[in-house]
Amino acid sequence: MSAPLPRVEQRDFINYCRPLLEQAELEAVQKVLESGWLTTGPNTEAFENEFKQAVGARHAIALNSCTAGLHVALCAMGIGPGDEVITTTYSFVATAHVITWVGARPVLVDVDPETFNISPEQLEKAITPRTKAIIPVHFAGLPCDMDRIHEIAARHDLWVIEDAAHAAGVDYKGAKIGSFGDVAVFSLYATKNITSGEGGVVTTSSDELAAAIRRLGFFGISKDIWERHGKPRAWDYDVRSQGFKYNLSDVLAALGRVQLGRLDTFNRMRRDMAHRMLEGLSGIKGLQLPREYPYAQRNWHLFPVLVTDGAERRDALITFLRERKIGTGLHYIPIHLFTFYQQQYGYKPGDFPHAEKVYATEVSLPLYPALKDEAIGWIIQSVRDFFR
Ligand SMILES: *Cc1c(COP(=O)(O)O)cnc(C)c1O
Repeated sequence: MSAPLPRVEQRDFINYCRPLLEQAELEAVQKVLESGWLTTGPNTEAFENEFKQAVGARHAIALNSCTAGLHVALCAMGIGPGDEVITTTYSFVATAHVITWVGARPVLVDVDPETFNISPEQLEKAITPRTKAIIPVHFAGLPCDMDRIHEIAARHDLWVIEDAAHAAGVDYKGAKIGSFGDVAVFSLYATKNITSGEGGVVTTSSDELAAAIRRLGFFGISKDIWERHGKPRAWDYDVRSQGFKYNLSDVLAALGRVQLGRLDTFNRMRRDMAHRMLEGLSGIKGLQLPREYPYAQRNWHLFPVLVTDGAERRDALITFLRERKIGTGLHYIPIHLFTFYQQQYGYKPGDFPHAEKVYATEVSLPLYPALKDEAIGWIIQSVRDFFR
């Protein structure tokens, strides 16, 4: 078997993200291929149990994406046409798209200008008699104000589905994201803190929701193929609802298991790197850095900085870094600025000024376990050179 990918050095082009894959990942995938069982099976089942334990959740359901998990969670709650679901405009479009898929109305709201997380005040103002659920997003792995959000949700009798795509291994007031609340959905997409290539995991403490989500993720079928395998009347099953084809392959689950085992190590590495970046970039005029908050242990899924002098200067920084072979990300183009959301739901530029200001000045610097120390040093030096 060939050697795993080397870590990213200063002389390489430093992509804004890349997973850390080593021998263990290669071997795990090879073993699945050798076993001949490629679809949902023993590795998916083991992955779900390991994920459940890692998070401290009652149930974990592995699916083929976080988007799929958000979609079936809405279905399992019976949300549909005539309903409204509130979420943040400052997220990946998947967060809002799933609301449109069930025929409900996506009600977007603005963010807190410092954390870029959904503003609880704006959220509460957006509630109407049609509101059924809230989808907060833990931006860059910094948890939202969940006490406030749960308090508002309880007062108005609303579901809460956490988009925890960024939030694997994150602590909120000493409890892991996914261990409390109605439903949380994690992503195993290639850019996330742990990856299975593509994949997602739904956690919940509700037996009913867990059963419904599991069914909806596999055609509404009462038992999946692995549950039936080798049993008497293995061919027999019932279809109890309309469902989707969202199951996770064992090839990917095997990869996810190895990555899950390294989640705490990865997040510790990210924290160390983030602290080095915060120290190295401190005191630069015109650069606003992210920070730690006492209520949470963030996992530094992203390292988002703001170039406070405006979009032109931000764009110049992106170009400058690219010339130094440093890639960057931009998180996010606010959802209300997309044509589809403007045409379908009447959103327009100017609706959410905080999100638009962050969008105009944000850049995400590379920060991930596959980066060598010297590469981090080069990023710090390059940003400092730009502002000099
Ligand atoms: C990545 C991401 C998703 C989608 O995750 P998939 O696993 O690719 O479906 C959803 N929401 C946010 C905030 C994300 O960053």
